[in-house]
Amino acid sequence: MTGKKVTKSLARTEKSKGAKKTPPNKKAVRPTWDQYFVSICEMVGSRGTCDRGKSGCVIVKDKRILTTGYVGSPPGLAHCDDIGHEMHKVTHDDGRETMHCIRTVHAEQNAIVQAARNGIALFGSTLYCKMTPCYVCAKLIISAGIIRVVAMKDYQASKQSKRIFKEAKVKLDILDEEVEKY
Ligand SMILES: [Zn+2]
Ligand SMILES: [Zn+2]
Repeated sequence: MTGKKVTKSLARTEKSKGAKKTPPNKKAVRPTWDQYFVSICEMVGSRGTCDRGKSGCVIVKDKRILTTGYVGSPPGLAHCDDIGHEMHKVTHDDGRETMHCIRTVHAEQNAIVQAARNGIALFGSTLYCKMTPCYVCAKLIISAGIIRVVAMKDYQASKQSKRIFKEAKVKLDILDEEVEKY
């Protein structure tokens, strides 16, 4: 009985060897790795719970995704979309005042925290995100041992982040010239 089965599977292998090949698809356009991971950030960000900033983050090593994060309240806490924002006034050096929602954990922070939850080392990894990370996120990125940051766009208040990335030798690549303001 067993012998019969082996003969059958051999016959199938012979057949597939003779299968007709189709010509190569020379028009096929694949996104670059940076485009690929940055576009995944957009889908991840769409799960955000605060409509003031629906951004997503993906952390990658050796072209493999280690962790993802989006803008959201910590688990079990109320969402902005359900109860409204928690607005906070920020006064800048030049006296200018802007309002920010502080209810949520940033996408970059959530990606780092998810890695911590699952015991994943981020040392030597690359972080993809929508905008140049804020000062707090930038410090966490450096502390986690992330060595490269790829942002889709620049952020108007990114001076401090850029300074510490440079100082800590974290490579920052901004794909789009456009500056995000909000
Ligand atoms: Zn909010
Ligand atoms: Zn941030």
